[in-house]
Amino acid sequence: MKQQRHDVIVIGLGAMGSAAAYHLAAKGAHVLGLDRFQPPHQFGSSHGLTRIIREAYFEHPSYVPLVQRAYELWASLEKLSGRKLLRRTGGLMIGPPDGVIINGARRSAEEHKLLHQVLSSTDLRARFPVFSPEANMVAVWEPRAGILFPELSVQTHLELAVERGGSLKFNQPVLRGDPDGEGVRVFAGTDTYSANRLLLSVGAWLGALLSGPTGSSKSNSNCRFLDLPLSVERQVLLWFEPRSQANQFQPENCPIHIWEYAPHRFFYGFPDLGDGIKVAVHHEGQLTDPEKIRREVQEDEIQTMRRLLRRFLPAAEGVLKSTMVCMYTNTPDEHFILDYHPTDPQVLVASPCSGHGFKFSSVIGELAAALLCEEKPSFDLSLFRIDRFTGSPAGAK
Ligand SMILES: Cc1cc2nc3c(=O)[nH]c(=O)nc-3n(C[C@H](O)[C@H](O)[C@H](O)COP(=O)(O)OP(=O)(O)OC[C@H]3O[C@@H](n4cnc5c(N)ncnc54)[C@H](O)[C@@H]3O)c2cc1C
Repeated sequence: MKQQRHDVIVIGLGAMGSAAAYHLAAKGAHVLGLDRFQPPHQFGSSHGLTRIIREAYFEHPSYVPLVQRAYELWASLEKLSGRKLLRRTGGLMIGPPDGVIINGARRSAEEHKLLHQVLSSTDLRARFPVFSPEANMVAVWEPRAGILFPELSVQTHLELAVERGGSLKFNQPVLRGDPDGEGVRVFAGTDTYSANRLLLSVGAWLGALLSGPTGSSKSNSNCRFLDLPLSVERQVLLWFEPRSQANQFQPENCPIHIWEYAPHRFFYGFPDLGDGIKVAVHHEGQLTDPEKIRREVQEDEIQTMRRLLRRFLPAAEGVLKSTMVCMYTNTPDEHFILDYHPTDPQVLVASPCSGHGFKFSSVIGELAAALLCEEKPSFDLSLFRIDRFTGSPAGAK
């Protein structure tokens, strides 16, 4: 049994935890990061080669300043590491003019005076000939959207965290994190670690870690025990070879695209970066458990995507090259949680990102590090408060 004292322990070193570990180490904090696997890996929510980054944020205009800071931080990470982490392609949000995606993207673009254009269905077909929108659809075009490389981004944050003095331990599943006076004690395998502060960034495992093992007695001194209304959703990613017009799917010609193909129903896609055209339905997945998730993709899931492609991107519907399964961790309102634990203010929760968090991981890492070092956050984080689910203000004893 070891006893070590750290300023901060980060549990979970995926997108959010790796970024937080880096920012904490960069601030000079004595940080220990623990992960049950060796990130970047394919068991959580941060794999699958690509993630969309976009600015005209249809989910809520409050995300725009955050994503703008995220862009700055991705650029600074690229500079520090000498790696290409973001490829700009421009982005298209496509759907009916009165739908969620068009209304939301326009509202964010107008409120924050973002460069954008609204394209009619005819304009869209003329400019991007492989796109086949219905006549009643329009598109919001934004030039700053693009693609992040999630595995490389996580790896880069982790490597830079170590370069700046952080300690990382992999294949260390954390069993418990208990409040210990003003600090915390963390139990991982046979080891025990202590720290002044704890960051919980365990993604899809958050619900399980906070609610404790089934049948356990709920001690009121253990920061694990908190019932958040989270759901883990299985998501399928598919890569297709183009059936025709392969050149039009090259990243110089094909922006990232998100479609509202029916009211409140979405799918999205990427250009072909060499692995095929990646497409996926956003949400509509089965609820799952990260310990029992089905990793095989079924024929009906492939056929669902083929039908969407035939309707909206017929030239993309070629041979299926590969598939992958990933997890969303959803809150009921699909906004994030970034806040202190309601009864244990030494514990910060930064995880459930409802399938749209990767682009923000650079800034969530920076904000989490600031909050853990008791600095005032530079953004309004009220959208992400935990008391919208727990009813009591965070940190209230
Ligand atoms: C298919 C798919 C597509 C997506 N597309 C986009 C997109 O285009 N744009 C976008 O912005 N976002 C997107 N997202 C969302 C984004 O990828 C996630 O919000 C983000 O990656 C979640 O990061 P995380 O750090 O919370 O979780 P993860 O990266 O999964 O990290 C959690 C870590 O915690 C570790 N862990 C868990 N339990 C324990 C324990 N007990 N002890 C120690 N370690 C533990 C895990 O091993 C894991 O490494 C997508 C998500 C999916 C699944």
